[in-house]
Order: sequence, then C-alpha cells, then structure tokens
Amino acid sequence: MTYTGTKISIDIERIPNELENADWPLLIAGPCSAESEEQLVDTAVKLKNTKRVSFFRAGIWKPRTRPNSFEGIGVKGLPWMQTVKKETGFRIATEVANAEHVELALKYGVDLLWVGARTSANPFSVQEIADALKGSDVAVLVKNPVNPDVELWIGALERISKAGIKKLGAIHRGFSSYEKSVFRNLPMWNIPIELKAACPDLPIVCDPSHICGNTELIPFIAQKSLDMEVNGLMIEVHNNPGCAWSDAKQQLTPDQYGDLIYGLLLRSTSPMQNQAPTALSKMREEIDLLDDEIIQKLSLRMKISEKIGQYKKENNVTILQMDRWSSIVGNRLNMGKAMGLSEDFLKKYLDLIHQESINIQSDVMNKRIRN
Ligand code: PEP
Ligand code: MN
Repeated sequence: MTYTGTKISIDIERIPNELENADWPLLIAGPCSAESEEQLVDTAVKLKNTKRVSFFRAGIWKPRTRPNSFEGIGVKGLPWMQTVKKETGFRIATEVANAEHVELALKYGVDLLWVGARTSANPFSVQEIADALKGSDVAVLVKNPVNPDVELWIGALERISKAGIKKLGAIHRGFSSYEKSVFRNLPMWNIPIELKAACPDLPIVCDPSHICGNTELIPFIAQKSLDMEVNGLMIEVHNNPGCAWSDAKQQLTPDQYGDLIYGLLLRSTSPMQNQAPTALSKMREEIDLLDDEIIQKLSLRMKISEKIGQYKKENNVTILQMDRWSSIVGNRLNMGKAMGLSEDFLKKYLDLIHQESINIQSDVMNKRIRN
C-alpha cells in the first residue's frame, strides 16, 4: 500500500445489496441517461431477467463537457424512475450535482445518489451537496475527481461523511489525461489502491464503462477490478445502445450485460484485502501492470500505422521504405542492447512489429476494413 497521507476514519454502514446471499458484489446497471419512460422500463425489465442487478442507474442531469450535447431529461425523468422501481422492484440510482438535485432525488425516492467526476473535483459543489444531504440516510457514492488526486477524492468523501451519510462508498471511473490512450479515462489503479489504504472499510465500485469508453475493453477492466478486490461494478446498459443520446459507444445491451456478469471470475484473494503480499505476488503484480502498458502502447502504435497507411494511400507513397526501416532497426537495436535486451530477441520483436505494421498499412491501402 502506497498511501502516506493521514488515514481517514469515517463511519461506514453496509450499502444494501440483495445479491449478497449469492456472494455477488454490488452491481449497478442501467443507461447513461434517462431518455424516455419506455427506454427505462424496457431496459430495466430486461436487466431484471439477468438476476444480477443491485441498483438500476440512469442519469437525469448530465454534466457534459461541451454545451449543446444532451444535458439530461431533468426532473420529468424522476417519475419514470419511480415506474421502474414499481414495475421491477429495483432500487434506483442517479447522479446529483447540486442541492436542488439532491432535494428532488430524495423527494422521488431515489435510493442511491452518486456525485459525478466533474462535481467531486469541486469542493464548493461537494459541500453544497453534503449540506443538502443532512438528515437523510440515502446511500451515496462519490466518483473519483477527473484529475488523479486522491486527496481531493478523500476530501469529497469526508464532506459527505460529515453530513451524517453512513452508506457511503467510492466509484473508480478513471482519470482524464492529455496523453493518448486506448482508454477514455486512464484507470491509474494505484489511486483507488491508495484510497483503500487510506480507508480500508470504504467500499469501492469500479465503473469500467467510463474507463473504457467502448464496449470491447469492458470485460477486461471489470475482471481486473474484481481481481483488485473492488466491492462492486457500475456498468452502463441501454436497451438500444446504437441510438443512445449519450455515451452510445460504451453502453452494453442487457444481454451483453448478462454475459459479462456471468463470465466474471469472483476470486477470494486479492492485493486490496490487506493480505501481506509475498515477494512473488508483488513481482507478478508489477509484471501484470507492465504487460498492460506494453499492450496498450502496441495498440496505439498500430493505430498510427493505420493513419500512415491512409497518408501513403492519399500521397501515392509505397508501403515499404527500406531506408526508414533500416534506420529504425539500427536505432532500436542499439538502444535495446544498451538496456540489457538480447540482440536475438530484439530482432525477432522488431520484425514482428514491422510485419504487423505493413499488414495494417496494406489493408488500408487496399481498403479492406479491419476490426
Ligand atoms: C455517468 O456516470 O454517466 C457520468 C456522467 O459519469 P462521470 O461523472 O464518471 O463522467
Ligand atoms: Mn455516461
């Protein structure tokens, strides 16, 4: 555990989870945004069939990076959430960003509120929300702030805790970064690990949908988070993701959600569970992190190859340019050898990369579509 700041002691009560008998983590699922009563009810009924949902989520007020995107259906969506509750028995969850949202959500019987990533980065807003929560025993989850600052995250949790909220937890949804990545928001696992070290009793829910920004990577991040012993998952699920009014690329269908959840391995040991890590497990963890990074970088590298293919096509340049390749090999070989890697390994590795890059470029030039 790497947290060196002051440990926080906050009063925590268990967040209700009907799935607990089956030993399942807290599972929060539902669309990014409430769009219509039919969309909510249809999604919820289909989710009900999976038998693996603790709370049904939908954003009523949407904090959007740019204006003129869909900013949420607003208060008229709250009665629709009540219909979902009545028809499916689900507990319901939504995001709040100010005191008025809190008051309305409580008035309409929302069971779990979450503070979004943009809001938790602002102590004034968090304090306003905390003040509005006084006297309520609603469950509250605080998303990590958009910037990777564990103290800011802890501060937001402390503000909510001081308002008397005991069913409290955190959501890890990744961190925005200028650096290009395969993720929409970088997971930066060390930050939730630090939070767990600062407050071991605090439940942490992972939100793979906002980390990934696409559906393909979700199973990997969901499994990885469970391997790190998070206490739950929040997943965006829409009855017709292709037509979603927000975050269309990252939402699963209810069937895909079922496949995801039943495909997860629930393990009983983990690095987060305060077990003394052995020297071997520590080294394996380091290797896992490095392998993740290597694969992410390889994916970025190949995406650039695709763009180069496009450029060469438009400018009538041949794919293979021996001068450029010889200089790459010479330079990388020398650097790799200076870093202690064998010449034989480096040559095989560079050859493989080169071959894949050429394949990608010729696919682009021949207009075949890769997936
Ligand atoms: C959301 O959960 O729909 C949302 C807006 O998330 P975040 O605050 O993580 O961006
Ligand atoms: Mn969303």
